[in-house]
Amino acid sequence: MVGAGPAGLAMARALKVHGIAFEVFERHSAIGGIWDQSNPGSPIYNSTHFISSKTQSNFLDFEMPDHYPDYPSHRQILAYLRAFARAYDLQSSIRFNTLVKHVAPRGRGWSVTLSSGETREYAWLVAASGANWHPRMPHFAGAFTGESRHASTYRSPEEFKSKRVLVIGAGNSGCDIACDIAQTAGAAFISLRRGYHFIPKHVFGQPFDVFAAQGRHLPIWLSQFLLGRLLRALNGDLTRFGLKRPDHKVLESHPILNTQILHHLSHGNLIAKPHVGALDGDTVVFEDGTREPIDLLIHATGYTWKLPYLEEGLVAWEGGRPDLYMKLFSREHPRLFVLGLFETNAAGYKVFDNMADLVARAILAQRSRAEAHRLSEFMRTDKHDIGGGIHYVKSERHAGYVDYLAYLKQVARLRKYMDWPSIVPGHYDHVSQPLDQHATVVDRAPQSSGAVRLETWRRNGTGPPLA
Ligand SMILES: Cc1cc2nc3c(=O)[nH]c(=O)nc-3n(C[C@H](O)[C@H](O)[C@H](O)COP(=O)(O)OP(=O)(O)OC[C@H]3O[C@@H](n4cnc5c(N)ncnc54)[C@H](O)[C@@H]3O)c2cc1C
Repeated sequence: MVGAGPAGLAMARALKVHGIAFEVFERHSAIGGIWDQSNPGSPIYNSTHFISSKTQSNFLDFEMPDHYPDYPSHRQILAYLRAFARAYDLQSSIRFNTLVKHVAPRGRGWSVTLSSGETREYAWLVAASGANWHPRMPHFAGAFTGESRHASTYRSPEEFKSKRVLVIGAGNSGCDIACDIAQTAGAAFISLRRGYHFIPKHVFGQPFDVFAAQGRHLPIWLSQFLLGRLLRALNGDLTRFGLKRPDHKVLESHPILNTQILHHLSHGNLIAKPHVGALDGDTVVFEDGTREPIDLLIHATGYTWKLPYLEEGLVAWEGGRPDLYMKLFSREHPRLFVLGLFETNAAGYKVFDNMADLVARAILAQRSRAEAHRLSEFMRTDKHDIGGGIHYVKSERHAGYVDYLAYLKQVARLRKYMDWPSIVPGHYDHVSQPLDQHATVVDRAPQSSGAVRLETWRRNGTGPPLA
């Protein structure tokens, strides 16, 4: 397996629970993927917090500690991931400081060349190397003489002091960074290509995703109608802040959970600008013809997805996205899986758990010719809609965008067809120690066993130290 970020960890646990031998190669010296700021190229800035809330965001059977806030910080997410790896004893299967340089088919499996110079052979390959490592820089007419950086290089608002800064792009990172600069920069601007719906992090005193998960699942048109009404009631008409009116319904673009940005726009310490038309020396010219002298451009314009170590042609790409069945299974190679190259409108880690379980079961299915055939026939003929019938805006980011509930429905369809049981709470307990049995031990015993560490972790957020 390639990568020991959250997706790789979910995969490692699933392989372990199914008794499938595996090795993980991680180019960095530690676990955590993007959440480890010391991982070169990590896009995590100091003010990063999870966008999904803690009770919705955990891996199955491994909750975040009670004392965590609704939206944990990047440090807390990193600590959580490392605690997860320790609780399920995954570290011993990870080879750190080892880059996977090249993967080529060999027989029915894979030949994997590592940065150590070794070449090793494996029957199956899971690529879990992440989606945020190749910054995408837009091209504008003209030339800019100021400083120009991608958002992935940004860490602290101190970098902006007394500069005139323009953030280009209003995804969640772009909005967070714009809020940082609004408080520190000499002048702060954000350029938005289109109008967006801004979702508050709390609604009626609850994290938004907790609120949204309550009650019956409504048809998508009704959810859009009700949520649109709610946002209109809470935020009002956003054109009063110089923002464009959204050209799409709510949920038709990746949700932006941020109301701080409206606060800063309403205080005038952040100015909304339309899309950039051209660059002219030290000045940015916007599509509406207005001009602003700018010292620093921050491009919060996303990432190109790549699997640079896979031999050319192993995965077909369409509009910058790999063409995978259920965003997971190679269509050409039954022994190749890609975990993590998808975007969805909810927390990702339980989706990773489901995907990881499907991969493990698909590997086991290949031990029986009949079952392997049954699976490949299903994939070949299956028509499914994991977009949930939503008409997403036309952009690379939203090409093949996944609706969380539609995806879980599709997972259930595949499980039913293949007779694979669902993963339900308690599924992973036998590869860690059951928590409840050790609840009393925690108070008496020194932290000597993994189980005690795990219980202590859940209650206090102490236990496994950062490794
Ligand atoms: C600002 C921000 C906020 C986010 N907030 C949330 C949120 O609130 N909720 C949520 O669910 N998700 C969130 N995400 C999504 C985030 O991508 C996931 O949390 C998660 O980090 C993805 O895990 P991953 O394992 O797929 O990728 P990564 O975290 O990128 O891990 C991939 C690992 O693979 C390693 N690797 C890469 N190439 C190689 C190679 N060739 N050889 C060996 N190792 C390699 C990397 O070093 C890395 O450790 C957020 C993302 C960002 C950028």
